[in-house]
Amino acid sequence: MQEKYIRNFAIISHIDHGKSTLSDRLMELTGTVSKREMAPQLLDSLSVEQAHGVTVKSRTVQLQYRAKDGQNYRLNLIDTPGHVDFAYEVSKSLAATDGVLLLVDATQGVQAQTVANWRLAHDLGLPMIPVINKVDSAQADVDRVYDELMALDSTLLSKTIYQVSAKTGQGVPELLEGIVKELPSPKGDSNRPLKALVYDSEYDAYLGVITQIRVVDGQLNAGQTLRFMATNKSFQPKEVGVYRPDRTKTNQLSAGEVGYVVTGLKEPKFVKIGDTLTSASKGCQEAVSGFQERQPVVYAGIFPKDDYLSLKEALLKIELNDSALTIAEEHSAALGPGFRVGFLGVFHLQIIQERLASEYGIEVIVTAPNVSYQVRQVQEKEAITVTNPAEFPSFEKIESVEEPIVLGIIDTPGDYLDAVMKLAERYRGTFADLVDQAGGVRLSYRLPLAEIAYDFFNQLKSITHGYASLQTKAIGFEESDLVKVDVQVNYAKVDALAFVTHRSKAAALTQKVVHELKMTIPRRLYPMPVQALVEGKVLARVDVPPLRKNAAVNGEQRSVSKKQALLRRQNVNKRSAAHLDIVLPQEVFNALLSLN
Ligand code: GDP
Ligand code: MG
Repeated sequence: MQEKYIRNFAIISHIDHGKSTLSDRLMELTGTVSKREMAPQLLDSLSVEQAHGVTVKSRTVQLQYRAKDGQNYRLNLIDTPGHVDFAYEVSKSLAATDGVLLLVDATQGVQAQTVANWRLAHDLGLPMIPVINKVDSAQADVDRVYDELMALDSTLLSKTIYQVSAKTGQGVPELLEGIVKELPSPKGDSNRPLKALVYDSEYDAYLGVITQIRVVDGQLNAGQTLRFMATNKSFQPKEVGVYRPDRTKTNQLSAGEVGYVVTGLKEPKFVKIGDTLTSASKGCQEAVSGFQERQPVVYAGIFPKDDYLSLKEALLKIELNDSALTIAEEHSAALGPGFRVGFLGVFHLQIIQERLASEYGIEVIVTAPNVSYQVRQVQEKEAITVTNPAEFPSFEKIESVEEPIVLGIIDTPGDYLDAVMKLAERYRGTFADLVDQAGGVRLSYRLPLAEIAYDFFNQLKSITHGYASLQTKAIGFEESDLVKVDVQVNYAKVDALAFVTHRSKAAALTQKVVHELKMTIPRRLYPMPVQALVEGKVLARVDVPPLRKNAAVNGEQRSVSKKQALLRRQNVNKRSAAHLDIVLPQEVFNALLSLN
């Protein structure tokens, strides 16, 4: 098809503003799926996505649209994942488009992810069509949202602002015309060597890796040998086509088109989001810009509640269509055999945990997540990478520890500047830069990744009422005064509860930890001490109270000295048998998560 009849676009919004529902309406109105086939949020097919109502993996769908000018257009709607943990995927999906619909809920207004996604699109220089959704709702306040949009981006002033109801379909036909009229067609060159952006991939048990691509220049034919530039892997495509919304074979994709390639490759490691696909024989000179190898940000132990082998099998399957995951075997004295898994963020971890439960019926224990550390030991040349606090070398052997540092770029309205600076400092941030910009200020802080990996973004959102947005860029590792905290329950060290923290925070944090553990560790017939130790010294201690009155205090008639003698004996017994015979429930680890 001629490029001038193609539009590649995405819908960006804050979560729950109606992206999936609007996609459904667009598919229905263009007859891409019939009313009968229409299930709500058709594009969200992973069960986790349906449970959360969020999009984890992006989907593409091709809509055939006959516009008022009588022409047939091909509209490629690229669905983007909405969450910050997937910001890299969002910007790669956006890079595959030529424009976006900026969707805002009329009852909620502009929110943090509206701003964050707007910025990603703005930085890519993409034209935007503002769309106010849910105008059917009694709570809709269109005027307020209009003002908020203008405050966000005054260039929207010169645009038509579409008012729609994705639920009832009101205003959606006008929006379809707007897409054709206002968004540009792709500007590629079919005569140049093939250059295509890989913006997503999925794994099919029979077909292997299937990539979703946007052809930038040239022609892609099913008969041609192709090559991924970053991984330098060549292959013969098994099938080439487009999503309508199911895979539909076309054997060819030309400049400006969006579609899929069944690679036949069984190993997902060769296929990276952001990579460039080209011809193996006469390849393009330069790759599509901005390819980034994605590294895990947080690590956690995952242990089976019952069967180790079925957990292993399930994790390996999930790894196949989630190349951002890293998996290594781990053995914990407290929890038995399991895995140390690397994730893009805490939300990613939660998604995987839920996929294990919903797709494979596997219940797991997940330990509190941590970042990775570079530890230099006395008399050792090479620093080691530690992704598991239990494997931290003992403090006598440590020369220095380095932790990952990121540059946190925070965009916020000026009103919240003071509160945001205080927050960043509380998270061990060091000020880097402050500049004025449209709609507020841009603040930069150097922040330890460990401090912000868990709840920083939620805090930021809450103190700015949802207006601030956060981008992070890895800077590298920097030396820091970090210590490992060991946790003992009933005098037995529990490896799965060990964690690493900054020395300045250790005293306060260990107090909180032992108190949380007191509330969550299953009780026994006897009191059990819970202690937190740093460098061999007990910093905090509490007793988990006994389940029932224990022997020592049972007979009320006993004398005080007899009680004490009994208690002493119980204690001695426990000390000599210093091992852990309790099963740690998930609540124990959750209790650690909420701290910091
Ligand atoms: P997404 O997270 O942006 O994909 O949002 P969804 O499409 O999943 O919608 C979130 C919620 O808003 C769902 O309960 C939808 O039924 C509801 N919703 C979406 N569009 C409309 C609309 O136009 N009007 C009303 N009243 N509700 C809507
Ligand atoms: Mg959705």
